[in-house]
Parts: sequence; C-alpha cells; structure tokens
Amino acid sequence: MPIEETVKAYYRYVKKIMDFNEAIALAEWDMRTGAPKKGIAQRSEVVGTLADEVFKRSVSAEMKQYIDALTDPAVQNKLSQATRRMIEKSKKTYDHYVKIPTEENQAYTVLQSQAQSVWEDAKAKGDFSLLRPYLEKMVDFKRHFIQYWGVETNKYDALLDLYEPGLTADTIDRIFDQLRRGIVPLVQAIASSGNRPESGFLAVRFPAEKQKAFCLHILRENGYDFAAGRLDETEHPFETTLNPGDVRVTTHYRENDFIAAVLGTIHEGGHAIYEQHISRDLVGTPLCEGTSMGIHESQSLFFENFIGRSKAFWEYHYEELKRYASGQFDNVSLDNFYRAINQSHPSFIRTQADELTYPLHIMVRYDIEKALFDGDLEVADLPGVWNEKMKEYLGIEPKNDREGVLQDIHWPSGDFGYFPSYALGYVYAAQFKHAMLRELPDFDEHVRRGDIAAITDWLSLHIHRFGSLKKPLEILNDATGEGPNPDYLIRYLTEKYSDIYRLNH
Ligand code: ZN
Repeated sequence: MPIEETVKAYYRYVKKIMDFNEAIALAEWDMRTGAPKKGIAQRSEVVGTLADEVFKRSVSAEMKQYIDALTDPAVQNKLSQATRRMIEKSKKTYDHYVKIPTEENQAYTVLQSQAQSVWEDAKAKGDFSLLRPYLEKMVDFKRHFIQYWGVETNKYDALLDLYEPGLTADTIDRIFDQLRRGIVPLVQAIASSGNRPESGFLAVRFPAEKQKAFCLHILRENGYDFAAGRLDETEHPFETTLNPGDVRVTTHYRENDFIAAVLGTIHEGGHAIYEQHISRDLVGTPLCEGTSMGIHESQSLFFENFIGRSKAFWEYHYEELKRYASGQFDNVSLDNFYRAINQSHPSFIRTQADELTYPLHIMVRYDIEKALFDGDLEVADLPGVWNEKMKEYLGIEPKNDREGVLQDIHWPSGDFGYFPSYALGYVYAAQFKHAMLRELPDFDEHVRRGDIAAITDWLSLHIHRFGSLKKPLEILNDATGEGPNPDYLIRYLTEKYSDIYRLNH
C-alpha cells in the first residue's frame, strides 16, 4: 500500500477510537452529574464494553501494522509533524499494554475498582489497615509492570513518564529542593509574624444560587465559551472534554465558603479554556487533548492563582461581588478582602491547602512514591512516614489517617507518579507568566480592566492550540526559552506573601 493510503487508513482507524472515547466521556459525565441511581449499574457495563473496545483497537494487529509502517525510518520524513507525533503516541500506548500479560492487566483492573471502594470505607473509618492489603497488591502490580516495560534503574521514572513525559526524578528532586528552600522559611515567617488578616466575612452565608450566578458571570468574563460547554454541580469539581466544541466543568457550592466555589470554578475553567482552544485540525486524532497533566495544571493554576487570587482581579470584580452577596462585604476594604482570600497556614488536607503551602503537600507524596519504587519503603510503613514528612515540611502532624495518608484517591486508583504534576504545573504557570510579561508588561492593567482576552490569546498562541502536537517540555521551552525553573514561582510567592503578611515591616 502506498504510504499516503496507509496514513489515511491510520487516521480513519484512530478516529474511531476517539469517537468511542467521546462516548465514554459523555456516559461518565452523565453518571457523575446526576444520572438516576437505578441506571448506574447497567451504565457502568456500557462504559466497560466501550472501554474494552478502545483497548482492543489500541493493541490490535491492525494497529501494529500502522505502527510498523509509519515508524519505519525510510518513511518518517515523508510524514507530517502531526502524523509523526500521532504514531509516536499510538506506539507508546501499544507498548505500554502489549508488554503486560493479558491476565495481569485484567486482574489489575479488577483490583483497581475494589481498592477504590475499600478506600472509601477505610477513609470514613480512618483505618489504614483495611486498605493496606489492597495497596500492597497495587504496588506489587506496578513493580511488575515496570519490569515488563524493561526499566532497570530509576523505576519511578517509568511512572512519571505516564503523566509528565520527559521529566525524571533527578529533575524533580532539583526543582522540589529549591522550591522547599524558598517556601519553608516563608511559612515559618508567617507563623511567627502574628499578622492575621481578618476573615470572618468569608464564612457568612452566601446562598448557593447567588454563588452560582456569580460563578457563571466570572467564567464568562474569563473567556470560557458557553456555546462550547456548561457548568454543573458535583461533590468534587472537575473538567471533562468531549471535543473542543464541548468542554464541561463542574463546581461545588458551600454556603459558608463561597470563595472555594469561586476559585474552584476559575480553576476548572482554566482547564476548560485550554481544551476549548485546541486547534480544530486536531479533532478526531489522539493529539486533541492537553499535552500532559503538568501543562494542564499550569493552565488551571494560571487562572486560579495568577488571575483569580490577584489584587487586580478583585479591583475589577469586588463591587460586582457585593451585588451578589448579602451585605457581608460592605464594610470590608478591598485590601482586607484580598488578604483574607490569600491567607496561608499549614493544614492537613491537600485539596484545601492555600497556594503557598500546597507544593509541600505534593513533596510529602512524591518522597513516599519514590521510596516505594526506588527505595526500600513498604506499604505498611506509609502512615508513619506520612506523618513524619508532614511534621518535617509543614510542622504539623495528622491526628488520624483520614486527615493523613488516606485522604487522596490517587494511590488506591493506582495513580502513582501523578502527584508531582500538580506542583510542576504551578512551576510552569509562573514561568509562563514571566514570559508573558515580556510581551504584555501591563498584565495587571489588563486584569484590572477585565480584559482577560489579551492574556488568553497569549496562552492560546503558545500553548492551547497545539494540543499534544508538542511535548510538555517543548511547549515550555518554546514559550519561555528555558526548561523547568522554580525561581519565578519562588519570587512570586516571596513578594506576594511578604506583602500580605507585612513580613519586611
Ligand atoms: Zn486541576
């Protein structure tokens, strides 16, 4: 078959896989946003059937033929950049699964869903011993998989590669060490400063329907396209992409904590704006998605922290907020409001942590994951090591495993290697902001005027439109001129928190 024909057939083949994936995403979104309970069991089977179909097509003999034909060095230079990158991704998925014996893969999938439901119970009871045997099996599976993939040294790198291709533990060690040296002294200085912003007004009842109206308003202001998405309510906020023309977000309203809903909505909106701006040329290909977890998180955190938690943003939105509220901000100055929504103190739960202490929560998890796969840490030691690390990095020790090692679903789901991408995204976001300032020196002025479009245009041009056409480090290098560098984040946090807590006064 001439090479052009092979390419066409390959595109048709992966388009079908993408169509199945869209159907799966829609069914899952529906289950999470209010599908009737009595239909859930059958719906789960439908999702299972479709997922099985995707799996079979991803590892089929036909897929193997496309991979062999299109990775042949003799034809590579005849292929477009997109085709080369697509086949590289298809090959990665193929190798990932084909190297693992089918029975083990199936047993692992069963364990995954068991471990997740046991985790819910263990967390509710605060009893790690319930989860322990499942987690031990989970880690055993992962250790075997790494062997099948043929990794001899730095085994943890093989897991990192699933979420943040190109990043290794050596690089992350360097970034995290530097970050910790910048953050820990700030956390300590804040603790001993005695300067606490008044914040009682944040807990005054803010009716859910008013929060919703305000969140819809903010999403629109930030450039989220409602003709290509919608906002719903779930226990845990998330973003899901069906295709760039249908990117949905959810949020959660707590009447005594409106700012969590606003910032959570802005965060998911940041993920969604990324996906809404992916080039339409990439629809139907595996490149039609964010390029990595870290780059994705850089976009949500860019909106949440560098826009949503900034003084300039509230200079524009504060009067509007007062119109949705019930008078609780009438005697609160903008400066006081800004300091209150940015207050920082060590806490136990990662998802509720402020932007200054958040990376320390990630480091606790990272150290543990690395020691599980490249050190001699065993699952039984997890609760003890967790508490030690919390004490070392944040200066506090959880009273029970519910607010400690049991709080996240990632490990029971088998997602080892995922956590670092949250902190890397934060590092990247600060780098993007720094690079953007070269072309948009009046960044704050734009935010103050509510002109977010200039900012989104920059993000689109350098990041969003590429989808996965470029790899994460390519995106970072091309947009900023350098690799991962935590200096900008440290500088941002130091300036911001010295001001909020008047540390130099
Ligand atoms: Zn996120």
